Amino acid sequence: MSSTNTVNGGISHWYADDGLPTAREPLAGDTTADVCVVGGGYTGLWTAYYLKKAAPFLRITVLEQKFCGYGASGRNGGWLYNGIAGRDRYARLHGRDAAVRLQQAMNATVDEVIRAAAEEHIDADIHHGGVLEVAYTPAQLARLKAFHEAELSYGESDRTLHGARETAERIRVAGAVGSSWTPHGARLHPVKLVKGLAAAVEALGVTIHESTPVTEIRPKHAVTPYGTVRAPYVLRCTEGFTAALKGQRRTWLPMNSSMIVTAPLPADVWDTIGWAGRETLGDMAHAYMYAQRTADDRIALGGRGVPYRFGSKTDTATNPGRTQPATIEALRELLTRFFPQLTGVRIDHAWSGVLGVPRDWCATVTLDRATGLGWAGGYVGSGVATANLAARTLRDLVQSDSGQSGPTDLLSLPWVNHRVRKWEPEPLRWLGVHGMYATYRAADRKELTSHTAEAPRRARLADRLSGRA
Ligand SMILES: Cc1cc2nc3c(=O)[nH]c(=O)nc-3n(C[C@H](O)[C@H](O)[C@H](O)COP(=O)(O)OP(=O)(O)OC[C@H]3O[C@@H](n4cnc5c(N)ncnc54)[C@H](O)[C@@H]3O)c2cc1C
Repeated sequence: MSSTNTVNGGISHWYADDGLPTAREPLAGDTTADVCVVGGGYTGLWTAYYLKKAAPFLRITVLEQKFCGYGASGRNGGWLYNGIAGRDRYARLHGRDAAVRLQQAMNATVDEVIRAAAEEHIDADIHHGGVLEVAYTPAQLARLKAFHEAELSYGESDRTLHGARETAERIRVAGAVGSSWTPHGARLHPVKLVKGLAAAVEALGVTIHESTPVTEIRPKHAVTPYGTVRAPYVLRCTEGFTAALKGQRRTWLPMNSSMIVTAPLPADVWDTIGWAGRETLGDMAHAYMYAQRTADDRIALGGRGVPYRFGSKTDTATNPGRTQPATIEALRELLTRFFPQLTGVRIDHAWSGVLGVPRDWCATVTLDRATGLGWAGGYVGSGVATANLAARTLRDLVQSDSGQSGPTDLLSLPWVNHRVRKWEPEPLRWLGVHGMYATYRAADRKELTSHTAEAPRRARLADRLSGRA
């Protein structure tokens, strides 16, 4: 079946499902605040939330270029899980114990998001079923076992490894030879979370201005076409869109990720698939996929597609979220490779978004004490939970800098105040990322027909050249 009946773009299926939010007023001239947050995604909103909760007297202004949840926070796969980009590098830089503490903080963050959503009465279809990662080639199985061992070594003693039969008892993925499951993950509806969070933040007394693009951030200033917000602290929470800000073109590379969602599947199809635990589902391919069973019984599945657009371009202005037809077909093929019984199933919606990738693939949270400029992001593909940990850390950074609190456990985590060099100029940036993903895809194809457990050498080389390993 072709994808002609598939809605492509319109930001994401999650908005088609839950509706676009009512617009908030733009900034109406110069003003002042104690803290100015740039960007109304999970990072910016959780930061405003925790700061206002800790210090209700603070005047906090959030500036959002479109509307809260316009970016990845309104488009993602809804995996709330404990992965954090850069953990292994942080272990090399700061020692194993520091990285174990970072991992423990991430485990706790999954619970914290679930707790805070409940406290704020945000019904985001959260289902705490854990994360299941499957292998379906010998090479993937070897990586799965290595991955499983690595996670145990970071203190995840509650993770379990399963063979083909046990995997099939949870979910019947064609050809699956094993899986690894962790309880530290939950499925959620991204837009219900971000809309609920924006409302909660506003109810606390934070000012949110939408349709207000910040064109430049400099110490104590966030400049927009409608006026400037002056504040001792200006926090940049713009993730995959950061390259559009003055002076930030090569800071974080905007990497695309695309998704498709099926029509709701009937009970007899679910009988053939299983997946009663509604774990978030991933694989061990180099160009990995991620999926969830939604609250209304669809499958939402994502993968890389065209990884990066020349010159760090993000959305098309006329149809934000649009993805390439070839990507839709590639994701459909992936879906039917996993579940052959879904051949010909209706794909209701396809979309894409951008995530932020630093040159060393390490998420960071930073406050420059000299200037009052802070930022958090570079989460690569793991920002749903990480944004919450980053936000609580930004809160602690601002509070300790302004003398409202002392050192905290969060401030001692190894990703705090980490600096990294910028990406190469074009065309090297484009060539590097496209070369890396072409290599990954070739390696994945080779592994499908190979009986060896060894990953192709070129895939390992691509990891090293890209800065990923
Ligand atoms: C398709 C897709 C699937 C994903 N799936 C998962 C997943 O399942 N699990 C997971 O953990 N992570 C996933 N991610 C990543 C995750 O969604 C992000 O890491 C997370 O949402 C980042 O939140 P954020 O607030 O930092 O960035 P964003 O949500 O991108 O928010 C940034 C906000 O800043 C605004 N902004 C940008 N520039 C300006 C400016 N100059 N002025 C004013 N406002 C500005 C944007 O409009 C946007 O609203 C996925 C990402 C994508 C794209």
